[in-house]
Amino acid sequence: MSCHKANPSNVKVLIIGAGIGGLTMAALLEKAGINYLVFERAKEVKPLGSALSLGSNVMPIFQQLGILDEVLKSSKPFGFSTGYNEQREATRTLDYSPAEKIGGYLPHIISRSIFYDILVKLVPSEKILMSKKILSLLQNKEGVLIRCSDNKTYHGDILIGADGAYSAVRQSLYKELTRKGDLPRSDALPLPSNTTCLVGQTRPLDPEEFTHLKDWHSWFESTLGENKPYAWVTFSTKANTICWMILRHLDDKASRELDSSFRNSEWGPEAAEAMCKEVRDFPVARNNMTVGDLIDATPRELISKVMLEEKIFETWHAGRTCLLGDGKLPDNPSMEEIHKAFQLYKSERYPHAKAAFDTSHRMAGLVGQHWYNDVLRTVIKYLPKGFFTRSLQVMYHYRPQVSFLEPAKDLGQLKPAPQPSLFRARARKEEEFNKNHPRLVDTDASSLRADSISTTTTTKVGGSSVYGKTF
Ligand SMILES: Cc1cc2nc3c(=O)[nH]c(=O)nc-3n(C[C@H](O)[C@H](O)[C@H](O)COP(=O)(O)OP(=O)(O)OC[C@H]3O[C@@H](n4cnc5c(N)ncnc54)[C@H](O)[C@@H]3O)c2cc1C
Repeated sequence: MSCHKANPSNVKVLIIGAGIGGLTMAALLEKAGINYLVFERAKEVKPLGSALSLGSNVMPIFQQLGILDEVLKSSKPFGFSTGYNEQREATRTLDYSPAEKIGGYLPHIISRSIFYDILVKLVPSEKILMSKKILSLLQNKEGVLIRCSDNKTYHGDILIGADGAYSAVRQSLYKELTRKGDLPRSDALPLPSNTTCLVGQTRPLDPEEFTHLKDWHSWFESTLGENKPYAWVTFSTKANTICWMILRHLDDKASRELDSSFRNSEWGPEAAEAMCKEVRDFPVARNNMTVGDLIDATPRELISKVMLEEKIFETWHAGRTCLLGDGKLPDNPSMEEIHKAFQLYKSERYPHAKAAFDTSHRMAGLVGQHWYNDVLRTVIKYLPKGFFTRSLQVMYHYRPQVSFLEPAKDLGQLKPAPQPSLFRARARKEEEFNKNHPRLVDTDASSLRADSISTTTTTKVGGSSVYGKTF
């Protein structure tokens, strides 16, 4: 794969958070030859979390970054998911198989820690500063200044907030906008969260005992609690592990009472112990297991209890700060140029982020515990197959690519959603080419035409999620 370090620039980008969003951004800046540093609050990276589901929307970018083969080798596809009752009887199936035709790939399940290891290799270690919790930011016409918990300050031109659902960057930015009266009311409301979640991943298990681990595909299985506000989900992985998550649906009162320090805490085992006890006896569909067996097969320090938040923010950027994005900027961009690039980024990404958010919300509803979730499950059972296929089309329509790396061949039968930023970048390239090769204008230049390239964008994290979220 060729990589054009086309725009080596004087711009310095500060990325806050070395999670999946921050690392993807760093890997892209690395390929683009743009100066950057990543700041991560954790002291060290621990293989925390459960599984991620990677759909065809992210495969083209992986190809452009040169990690697609490794991602496919380290993951397992799934074409369906099965729902069970507490008697371990299968009661419902969702058919994901049309996803392959739609976007070129079935969704793939990968252990989050394995995916993290693949991604982090793309970023030189000296560019990721650990134990750097950002506390505040200041920005003006000259640049942006961040202050970290060790009292050190860093200066840059652009700040990217990729610091997760309780983003300090977002909070700092929103404070500034509130002072100026520029924050939309909906953005000032607290992050709604009515689900707590216990997640982990077992040690590698013996496929002779757990024979479903030998299958070429991942088993994506969920059980719905009876007369209890819980649902639990497992995924078999390529590494012969079982990734698991236990969801506890909270009523409004319990949700309000949740300690805000827990909401903001880092991922880790501290708060997990009590919930582990509550859920031990829940039956799991495979091998007559219980959730307790999964917990016992998982190193305790790698079990996390977290909140699942659901919100799409309206404000994605202000001044020199953006909650993750891309954009073509000159060498020493002015505040106005930065603002314009961020505006274009939001206008392109927002409709897709909103569609992904709505679809994910509906999917989560299938394991919800309110009366209307029961209705939804019954309705889904009797709906024509095409209805769920339509949701898959919405999910996998948007298949981003970046303009400065070799285009990835799109394998989907559904034409990718238009990506105006790619179109503009290709048009600029064509213009430059025409300027430098006036006599070739009508022949060779046509191969660089904007509309000859399949279209889409880069990864979104307008505040919270990047890749199809799964756990
Ligand atoms: C340890 C961990 C395990 C996860 N496991 C799963 C999983 O199994 N399945 C799933 O679907 N999703 C999981 N998630 C969430 C998932 O990664 C994200 O929802 C999604 O990928 C979006 O990524 P992100 O980079 O925006 O945020 P995150 O992945 O949440 O990353 C944010 C990063 O910013 C850092 N950070 C936060 N505040 C500050 C600060 N003030 N200063 C500096 N750094 C800061 C965090 O330590 C973290 O590394 C996990 C997240 C984490 C952090």
